[in-house]
Amino acid sequence: MKYSIIADAYENIESTSKRLEMTNHLVKLIKQTPKDLLSKVAYLTQGKLHPDFDGVEIGMAEQMVIMCLVKISGKKKAELIKTWKIIGDLGSTADKLLSDQYTIKLITGVPLTVEKVYNTLDKIAHISGKGTVRIKIRLLANLLMDATSKEARYLVRTVMGKLRLGIGDMTFLDALAIAYGEGKSSRVDVERAYNMSSDLGLVSETLANEGLDGIRIFRIRIGRPIRPMLCGRLTTADEILKKLGGRGSAEFKYDGLRLQAHITSKGISLFSRRLENITSQFPDVIESLASSVNADELIVEGECVAIDPNTDELLPFQVVTQRRGRKHDLKRMIEKIPVVLILFDALYVDGKSLIDHPYLERRRILKKTVRETNGIRVTNPLIIDNPVELDKLIDTATETGYEGLVIKAIGSNSIYQAGARGFLWIKYKREYRSEMADTVDLVVVGAFAGRGRRAGTYGALLMASYDEELDTFKTVCKLGTGFDDVTLAKLPKIFEADRIDHAHPRVESKIEADFWFVPRKVLELFGSELTLSPSHTCGLNIIRAGVGLAIRFPRFAGKWRDDKASEDATTVNEIISMYRSQLKHV
Ligand code: ATP
Repeated sequence: MKYSIIADAYENIESTSKRLEMTNHLVKLIKQTPKDLLSKVAYLTQGKLHPDFDGVEIGMAEQMVIMCLVKISGKKKAELIKTWKIIGDLGSTADKLLSDQYTIKLITGVPLTVEKVYNTLDKIAHISGKGTVRIKIRLLANLLMDATSKEARYLVRTVMGKLRLGIGDMTFLDALAIAYGEGKSSRVDVERAYNMSSDLGLVSETLANEGLDGIRIFRIRIGRPIRPMLCGRLTTADEILKKLGGRGSAEFKYDGLRLQAHITSKGISLFSRRLENITSQFPDVIESLASSVNADELIVEGECVAIDPNTDELLPFQVVTQRRGRKHDLKRMIEKIPVVLILFDALYVDGKSLIDHPYLERRRILKKTVRETNGIRVTNPLIIDNPVELDKLIDTATETGYEGLVIKAIGSNSIYQAGARGFLWIKYKREYRSEMADTVDLVVVGAFAGRGRRAGTYGALLMASYDEELDTFKTVCKLGTGFDDVTLAKLPKIFEADRIDHAHPRVESKIEADFWFVPRKVLELFGSELTLSPSHTCGLNIIRAGVGLAIRFPRFAGKWRDDKASEDATTVNEIISMYRSQLKHV
């Protein structure tokens, strides 16, 4: 398959501002791809070579790419850097360089194939040891010699991990369902397989080769993370118990890192909420799990929380996050910040999926297969059927320093809804009772030029919530306060790589921003209240025809939620229910 087919598709996707067109371009690309290459093309459209949990990054540094461009064009490094600084993107710089008639290019004239691109990039990603830099430069230069200027643009962005087309996994699944299923209605089946494997390539390949029948019998595979089930939020004990049919299992909401552990006799893997493989970061958790599990194969989920070993006190989220990404001082950090894993669910045991089993049955298996030790605990749920009792429990939780409660359905339908934020699990925090005391996590989709003191940077960011049904982002406020001066000055630089010249096809906005971005970065913010708004698209036509919802007086809470993908942002439905519950409490 010629790489030019992919490059053309990328260019078309980049130039559209309509989601439907974006999906159509993807459908066309999927149909043009031979079945045996489909998984590779699926990863490539996401700017990757493997699923996230494989942890493989191509990661060529800017300087190495510049060396390649010097090598194939004979241009001076300084001249190249000058052009790059003006254009701001090394991919477009490569494109300009190769399309310039005065550049003396070393070209082979052999058309670039997807197979060659994929295999070479995979080699680049896996090389280590002596001479790495030299070999990587040679490999990329070889590819660029076969590339047209357009192909070079996307190759360079891909090797640098900066492809950023903003094609959401759900948009890709829609396109797959249209190309190989029975149309968009097949997305449910395709999505179910994706939720069980988190592997776009595997799902693509299965659908293309085995059709919908193969997708419908798709099974959980140990070693491939299951997409986590998330909580809905409600604000009163009454509402919660009603929603759960009168009774629920109430547990403390622990404030740590969510972990999914895949345990086999051959080894244990750990995955984060974003499904990255974080096994190497928690050897202490692995050791604890190895000595407390009584099954050949097991997938369990829990919250990894930092603990003060002297007082047994659980410490806040900010403490355990210091354990993330450590390499050289890992041993010291394990001693400095000991952790416990507090398990709350079991999803798979000895060849059998448990996700369609009711919660209490999963809990029974969890208790049976895991022995509690110093490092491993199991949550202690209380079955509650009375709102007064639930309120007493949340008071105890809040007073003892927990974030709140998670109350879970226990009826025969209380399955594990992988990848979904529904109401089988409901989080209950005290602060929800006051107006928007809880923060929201929103996606930055655009920005406005600053004036006066803010000239040269952004005056405000355009923030959006996530619409799960449509896989789009809907605006809900402009955020201009809460940034310190240093961050404020850096904003254009932070978003430089995400800049596009029109609203992204997955962004629904009535407001014309001065700058548009690929929806990628998630920020946490406070707001004073939610109001009806004619300008925003979040909740449009839901409360009243022609109007949406807006957050009043939004303020940056100081946290860039890099642990969240844009699809993990607060959803439109959550904002709508926050608005409704706010009305009840005035
Ligand atoms: P927040 O932003 O409120 O910290 P979140 O957006 O990361 O939460 P939510 O869906 O709002 O995720 O809350 C659910 C999270 O709570 C789960 O992902 C899990 O990490 C955590 N959690 C803590 N204790 C429990 C528990 N007992 N059962 C289930 N989840 C729990």
